[in-house]
Amino acid sequence: MSDSNAMNTELTLTDQLYGDNPLKVRETDQYRNEYVMSFVEKWDELIDWQARAESEGQFFIDVLRARGKETVLDVATGTGFHSVRLRDAGFNVTSADGSASMLAKAFENGQARGLILKTVQADWRWLNRDIQGKYDAIICLGNSFTHLHEEQDRRRALAEFYAALKHDGVLILDQRNYDTMLDEGFSTKHKYYYCGDKVSAEPAHIDEGLVRMLYSFPDGAQYTLNLHPIRKNYVRRLLSEAGFQRVRTYGDFQETYAENDPDFFIHVAEKS
Ligand code: SAM
Repeated sequence: MSDSNAMNTELTLTDQLYGDNPLKVRETDQYRNEYVMSFVEKWDELIDWQARAESEGQFFIDVLRARGKETVLDVATGTGFHSVRLRDAGFNVTSADGSASMLAKAFENGQARGLILKTVQADWRWLNRDIQGKYDAIICLGNSFTHLHEEQDRRRALAEFYAALKHDGVLILDQRNYDTMLDEGFSTKHKYYYCGDKVSAEPAHIDEGLVRMLYSFPDGAQYTLNLHPIRKNYVRRLLSEAGFQRVRTYGDFQETYAENDPDFFIHVAEKS
């Protein structure tokens, strides 16, 4: 590792606060320490809005329109990519996230595109305390659900999502293909989701309880996310056990796919 990289890693560790042994940090609350403002400022370099819009096409818009959905709660707004896209497509979107820095950036991104986003700071585990009303649809995208490190938090978040939906509501939740990552190691075509081609995103550590992703930027800056790997069928089971009647899982936006091939799975879970 070069001196400048070593310096950046050091900076990252102090900036993002992982303590002495980052591999031991496996707590749901950690996301608050990870999305520090300097990382948030770089997030759009990582996801490249235009390339991402091109690769996912109309997928989410089509899923929502096909079911006649109008009100959408984006529970993992991040910097606002899907909130903005859905607003532009005519949906009535509320943009929630547990990170105040992410929401501030999303609001700024909305403003730059002539939109005033309706933002709410809300942790999924206490979602219904902070949001009002019931929604036609909830989206939880960009591999966000994997930030929950404990099963009880995953169940709790899904119960909160379920309760925030109308009786015929739909939840769209995506995840990286951790099955392949855990069983065969990491590879990605980098085609979907995180499309910025100047940023590398790869796991620095993988075990059944932790995937530590390392994001390296062209200026040498490095940031990490400690994520809990969730297997596809496990998530499908959690969705069913939370009460969702039908769960359809797509691989990289396709209905049929080779099991170990997709980078991402997208679950479309319907309440009725
Ligand atoms: N959806 C955006 C995208 O695709 O670019 C952001 C994805 S980012 C990987 C994950 C987001 O989930 C972050 O904005 C983070 O603050 C949020 N998040 C993680 N855990 C959360 C929790 N328990 N409650 C609310 N938001 C949470």
